[in-house]
Amino acid sequence: MKILVVDDSATNRFILDSALTEAGYDVVSADDGAEGLKKVRAEKFDLVITDLLMPRLDGFQFCQAIKNDEALGHLPVLVCTSNYTDSKDEALARDMGADGFITKTVATEELIEAVRSVIARGSGRVAAGTKSLADETSQLRQYNDRLICKLEDKLGELDAANKQMADLNATLEQRVQAGLAELKEANRELEAFVYSVAHDLRSPLRAIQGFSNILLDDPADGLGEKGKGFLQKINRSARQLDVLTGDLLAYSRLKNAQITLVPVDLQRVVARARELLSHQIEDSKAEIVLDEPLPVVLAHESALDQVVTNLLGNAVKYVAAGTQPKIRISAQNRAGWVRMAIADNGIGIAPENHDRIFKVFERLEHGKDYTGTGVGLAIVQKAVQKMGGRLGVESNAGEGSTFWVELPAPNCHGSIV
Ligand code: ADP
Repeated sequence: MKILVVDDSATNRFILDSALTEAGYDVVSADDGAEGLKKVRAEKFDLVITDLLMPRLDGFQFCQAIKNDEALGHLPVLVCTSNYTDSKDEALARDMGADGFITKTVATEELIEAVRSVIARGSGRVAAGTKSLADETSQLRQYNDRLICKLEDKLGELDAANKQMADLNATLEQRVQAGLAELKEANRELEAFVYSVAHDLRSPLRAIQGFSNILLDDPADGLGEKGKGFLQKINRSARQLDVLTGDLLAYSRLKNAQITLVPVDLQRVVARARELLSHQIEDSKAEIVLDEPLPVVLAHESALDQVVTNLLGNAVKYVAAGTQPKIRISAQNRAGWVRMAIADNGIGIAPENHDRIFKVFERLEHGKDYTGTGVGLAIVQKAVQKMGGRLGVESNAGEGSTFWVELPAPNCHGSIV
């Protein structure tokens, strides 16, 4: 036995198809009356099950078209429609030729029972052409009424669904905003906490350093060599912790600083950085070449100091043991920007690590042999970002590195303040 299922909802077609196939029927489906009509004209079926409200050709018209067709009038039609259906729907469907009427909520057994009984009864319709004009007009009026009712129901459903969606969106938006506010607050609290811990750690740290220095310098200490060794370790750790807290404070201050850009002489910034790093430069016998004169850039003076000091410090530090650091500092004007570059002959950085090194506390494996906190390049990045600039690195492992920073060039009236 072959059944044609006509429904515009894929879910409904699937449900009917599964139940009927399970009961041993061959099932073919169509997604509206127009397609259904094509199929009943092309193939032989024992029953048609149709929905009512469908695009192009609805169930009433589809049923009527079958019953008005000489060749198809014998084909039984079972209307299967939604649960909000009205008894007037059934009356109209029967009037248009339907041989049975069920709602989509029926249990599978009831559906199969209805299918069996409609097939057994066969089509009770006589082909059209026998109706009076008055009958046809009244049927058409009924049909329009039913269609309008059904469309109103559908519109109501759509409205309710839309409203539900809008409510859901509004709730979601509220939750996202509340979550964001909480996150911002938590972040702010965390930053304040890090700042206060770093700040409060500094004075006890300085005290540890100071007293251990006194003990180390005192010839009458009676500590012995072992004791001195321990004390030196305490002193080194305290110094390292002091640098770390200093870096964290610098990062935190920079993050919250209001930055105003003014013309700054790069030459003077580099001179200050060299002065600050004079011990490291002397100890390593670093050779530093400047492409003079370095230009003026639009920057924030102390932020730029931190950028240059950190980059130059790293260039001096990250060289292979026994190698004399050779560093070149240059600057070029490029379409409204000044690009400063600090190139070294150090241990280099593999390309896959270029992004990592700018994050807080990121230290590469090769850096473990050198002292450091992993905060320096994060400070550089934050400072450049705050000044509206750009930065990057060109490097390969073992081939030296060039760190570059781009800052706006002052216009031709820019003067040094
Ligand atoms: P720190 O130097 O305190 O470890 P940074 O944030 O300044 O922290 O640098 C992060 C990591 O990037 C370093 O640990 C090191 O592995 C790598 N690095 C930075 N500068 C250079 C450089 N000029 N040459 C080679 N490696 C570098």
